[in-house]
Amino acid sequence: RAKRDGRNRIAHFDEALGEHLRIRAGLEADLRRAIREKEFHPHFQPMVTLADNRIRGFEVLARWHHPRQGVLPPSEFIDIAEDIGLIGQLGSVVLGKACLAARDWDPSLTLSFNLSPVQFKDRNLVRSIAKTLQETGFPPERFEVEFTEGALIHEFQAATKVINALKAEKIKIALDDFGTGYSSLTTLRQLPFDKVKIDRSLVTNGRQDTENAKIVLGIVNLAQTLGLIATAEGIETQDDEVWLRSIGCEQGQGFLYAKAMSCEDVSWFLELRGETDVGASMPMTWPG
Ligand code: C2E
Ligand code: MG
Ligand code: MG
Ligand code: MG
Repeated sequence: RAKRDGRNRIAHFDEALGEHLRIRAGLEADLRRAIREKEFHPHFQPMVTLADNRIRGFEVLARWHHPRQGVLPPSEFIDIAEDIGLIGQLGSVVLGKACLAARDWDPSLTLSFNLSPVQFKDRNLVRSIAKTLQETGFPPERFEVEFTEGALIHEFQAATKVINALKAEKIKIALDDFGTGYSSLTTLRQLPFDKVKIDRSLVTNGRQDTENAKIVLGIVNLAQTLGLIATAEGIETQDDEVWLRSIGCEQGQGFLYAKAMSCEDVSWFLELRGETDVGASMPMTWPG
């Protein structure tokens, strides 16, 4: 009897696994097709200077414009793209489109782009980013790359090389999702970061939690000491904003300002906020 139960369980397990693998194989095939068809697009979320509430720039967040399922977030495709070795191609498509869109914006705006640790192994990574910037005419000085702590811990050697090469191209470096990983504060000093982004799990309603609030204050002070820009992710309420401004956090990002939007919406968004001319004629040469 026990034996038969066991066999049943295994049969059920097999079935479930088979189903899982089938779904997964379908997704992979769909993803390969989508990369060929260039269904991946940059969406843009504004980053704000907290002192004067002006838009500083935008973070590029990839979206899959799926023909049947609509607009899908990164949680639906980044892991798989990493697993099957397509994250590089996906990133290139998104980056190219983002730079093309952004060069028509006000010449003070910055662009931030996320890199996956899997991409560190690509020897052409930095060269291909620099080439895209050059071909689209987007100045590297206004371009920033974001890494997570996890990426640095697991691939420290490779990440260090990539970061130094990016710095040599005058590209800025941000440490993303800071405060959740296990990396020590020394990570911030070991590598030439320009910015630290405080994870939204510490930021959203963070003032209500005394422990959280102390940690955030600590990170902001540390950033100031090290000469880094502190950016708070996940600002959702006026209360979050007032708190972060009061402790001297330099920049903020979150649903209070806007969710990630398509490039068409960016123009409307900037116009609506009364930020400087969008799509105005750009100087052909770049100052500085
Ligand atoms: P991330 O780089 O930390 O990006 C911030 C995420 O937080 C975004 O989710 C954004 O929509 C979300 N967010 C921003 N403000 C708020 C807020 O106030 N409240 C809440 N609840 N969420 C907020 P998204 O777009 O789903 O991206 C998730 C992650 O996927 C990103 O986290 C990034 O690690 C990764 N990712 C996105 N685009 C790319 C890409 O092109 N390449 C790579 N390698 N990774 C990407
Ligand atoms: Mg990011
Ligand atoms: Mg983040
Ligand atoms: Mg995050």
